[in-house]
Amino acid sequence: MRETSYIDVTDPSTGELLGQVEDAGTERVDEVLGRAREGFSRWTRVLPSERASLLRSVAAKIMAEKKVLAQMLTREVGKPEPQAEKEVASAVEVLDYYAGEALRVPGEMPQSVGPGERVLIDRVPVGVVAAITPFNYPLATLACKLGPALAAGCSVVAKPDEHTPFSTIELMQLAQDAGLDPGVFQVVNGTGERTGMALVRSPKVDLVAFTGSRDAGKKIMAQAAGTVKRLVLELGGQCPAIVLRRAPWRESLGAIVHQCFNNSGQYCYRINRIFVEKGEYEPFVEGLVAAAGSLKVGPVAEPGVDLGPLRKMDILEKAQLHVRDALENRGELLLGGERLAGGSYERGLFFPPTVIGRASPKMLVMSEETFGPVVGVMEVNDAKEATSLADATPYGLAAYVFSEDPSEGLKIAESLRVGSVWVNRIHQAYIFAPFGGMGESGLGREKSRFGLEEYLELKTIYFHY
Ligand code: NAD
Repeated sequence: MRETSYIDVTDPSTGELLGQVEDAGTERVDEVLGRAREGFSRWTRVLPSERASLLRSVAAKIMAEKKVLAQMLTREVGKPEPQAEKEVASAVEVLDYYAGEALRVPGEMPQSVGPGERVLIDRVPVGVVAAITPFNYPLATLACKLGPALAAGCSVVAKPDEHTPFSTIELMQLAQDAGLDPGVFQVVNGTGERTGMALVRSPKVDLVAFTGSRDAGKKIMAQAAGTVKRLVLELGGQCPAIVLRRAPWRESLGAIVHQCFNNSGQYCYRINRIFVEKGEYEPFVEGLVAAAGSLKVGPVAEPGVDLGPLRKMDILEKAQLHVRDALENRGELLLGGERLAGGSYERGLFFPPTVIGRASPKMLVMSEETFGPVVGVMEVNDAKEATSLADATPYGLAAYVFSEDPSEGLKIAESLRVGSVWVNRIHQAYIFAPFGGMGESGLGREKSRFGLEEYLELKTIYFHY
């Protein structure tokens, strides 16, 4: 008889038990994947126009339940409700966008063949997709996989992070309520090592779409080799910002602070390190510390909280390690730096926005992803030094450049080895633009029509008539 184990899920703001989920393991994963294969054979035959229409219905259903989903996110992730609502809205936007893309999957038929011959170049769905997602944006990261997979004609088995499963389970329920075939989108729960790995190793999965840490991504890549699976890997970042002399950073200070500390720093393309040209360092640091110092940290049920708790102990420990290491390497602690204690802080892992001044490349905060609210600021001599330091990590997710001279900003942006770069303003990341990492930040792209391509394979038919 199969032994079932369960995982406790707690509220990171209060420590309260929210519920339990199964840690599915190999046998249960295999059953779910059997249904996913059947679901795939049905869904792939559904006309693209019907797929589009169903995706729109799913998006509308989720939008109608935005409050419920946002409240779940608030409790399980520990993010303030307005931010949780934004996440739900962004998931809806992605699903709606891919409903449109479902209607635009192109094929090709080159003319350069003889009479009675045709070459048909088709795009076919990859098959069954395992969508493995992280705790920090459970629904937004899922939508970036679910939308293109369903639009392409794939079926999906999602495995949410074991700390934040409930919003994903609810989203699946809403999708089914909207009319989606239950075999086409399912959820399995459990830890990465047990349930995640069972998905990655299974021959019933054709593509693993993963968002999470670089280390887990490497393990997945190694295990996926056993069955030569397709992979989309959206991994961590160690994103630099470059601020040159006389650059227009003041009007973007709010956005810079947001990009450093949003979601308590648990954000893949957050700014982890900032290189500031001589002459601009003092005013920049003063502005950054003042703005970051005004953010309110606390349990998300309290009014006006900007930053909730950290979700996991290992994130707190890494933030503490990065601060300790920076101080041992002669960094200046300009703001924060210690876990918050006393009163309601005792029930969760609260860490304040932390700014390390006089940072240097040998510090961990300047080379490793902190994934917590700690940022290092280093003074540099010129744009050349800033650019070469910005590129000096194995990561390549995103970068931010501020320059008085837009052509210099563009030149730097073109030279950096990153998937996305913002110049002189931090816009939101748009759905029609691809997002993903170079180097060890990942493989493949999400969002946009390029995100759809990941779920399609080319197939050539030589046809004689
Ligand atoms: P994580 O790697 O610990 O976990 C992510 C998911 O993978 C979870 O569902 C987990 O259970 C599963 N998992 C873990 N080990 C696994 C394994 N060996 N096999 C299969 N599944 C496994 O990451 P996390 O701590 O939840 O999230 C933080 C990381 O995610 C950060 O590094 C962050 O930068 C990254 N992230 C990247 C993006 C992006 O778009 N590039 C977006 C959000 C988060």
